[in-house]
Amino acid sequence: MKQDPEKRRPTGASDINDPERKAMITREREDEILALCQELIRIPSYSGDEKGVGQAIASFMERMGFDDIWTDTYGNVVGGVKGSRPGKTILFDGHIDTVPVKSEDWTRDPFGGERADGRIYGRGTSDMKGAVAAMLAACAYFAADRKRDFAGAAYVSCIVHEECFEGVAAREVSRRLKPDYVVIGEASELNLKKGQRGRAEIVLETFGKPAHSANPDAGINAVYRMSRLIDAVRTLPETTHPVLGKGILELTDIKSAPYPGASVVPDYCRATYDRRLLVGETRESVLKPLQDLIARLEAADPTFKARVSFAKGEETCYTGAAISGERFFPGWVYDEDHPWVATALAGLRRAGLNPTVTQYSFCTNGSHYAGEAGIPTIGFGPSRENLAHTIDEYVEETQLIGAASGYYGILTEALCK
Ligand SMILES: [Zn+2]
Repeated sequence: MKQDPEKRRPTGASDINDPERKAMITREREDEILALCQELIRIPSYSGDEKGVGQAIASFMERMGFDDIWTDTYGNVVGGVKGSRPGKTILFDGHIDTVPVKSEDWTRDPFGGERADGRIYGRGTSDMKGAVAAMLAACAYFAADRKRDFAGAAYVSCIVHEECFEGVAAREVSRRLKPDYVVIGEASELNLKKGQRGRAEIVLETFGKPAHSANPDAGINAVYRMSRLIDAVRTLPETTHPVLGKGILELTDIKSAPYPGASVVPDYCRATYDRRLLVGETRESVLKPLQDLIARLEAADPTFKARVSFAKGEETCYTGAAISGERFFPGWVYDEDHPWVATALAGLRRAGLNPTVTQYSFCTNGSHYAGEAGIPTIGFGPSRENLAHTIDEYVEETQLIGAASGYYGILTEALCK
């Protein structure tokens, strides 16, 4: 999850004592879901170090009789339950990496999985091991209750390295599984999300000529070049979308070289921009206005030299595999009457929930499933998005149980016609 300023939504939770929900999620099962969440929290899993939590998830899948379990080259753990009749494949997707903690800032043990005041505390409770626990449990209970009497299959993908590479490791899951529908479990406070802005990291570079700073006329200062370019970028109009809002372009860092530049006119400067992407924006359409801007500045001043590109990242997975990608994660949004949105909404209501239909304000693996692969996708998960990445992160137990019954309701609605 990438954080954006949180817009508080009304809660989608309905009465926890709703009779239909009670029939699906018994008291015993509630305890099992909470215990699984605690177990996952007690195994730290920073990005690139998810092996232990992946193993715990695989053994839960085995214990619960999942029909198909694998770990792929990146270390994603995927498992599914299959119905006795052919039908659609639904994928529940959650990431199992977390952002780091500074333990000394916490009043609770970030890896204790402590239960108090109707909450479970710990890094990843809201973002998003709680959701993963609820998904795993819902699929297991659904298959057991139906004795496999349903059409199609339900899978859970537990994804590594999401925090910096939204949707990159997920590509391997959709390549192998080819799901028909996806549910992203990122925090939605039990509301239904039908889209999100995407994001890109754009790098601007300017080039100059080094010189002793006692004699600056002999050089070309790359920072002065960058300063002109930054001013020009601020005059570009923002793209807009009626649902997703503005295609924000915001400067996030700047660096010159050599650094420190003791008595040297810097010959290189690099600035990074965060760009929020709207539906339909492509690599080309995003770079074009910046390329045109640079061309105009170069035409006006033949010594001006600059370049624009997307940032690239590369990290190593716990399996040893390299994960890399351009930081360009597309946005996506569906109409409220899209069949998958309508099915999911009916499933959530079946589970006794009363969700509002909105969109995520941050970037998720949906960038890949919906934005790149074109697979109908919705978001539904426990907890509030502004609890992600926080000190003393927690998830409310009622949200966890509500999420499990919501996933169960979606399965019933989608696979039991
Ligand atoms: Zn997340």
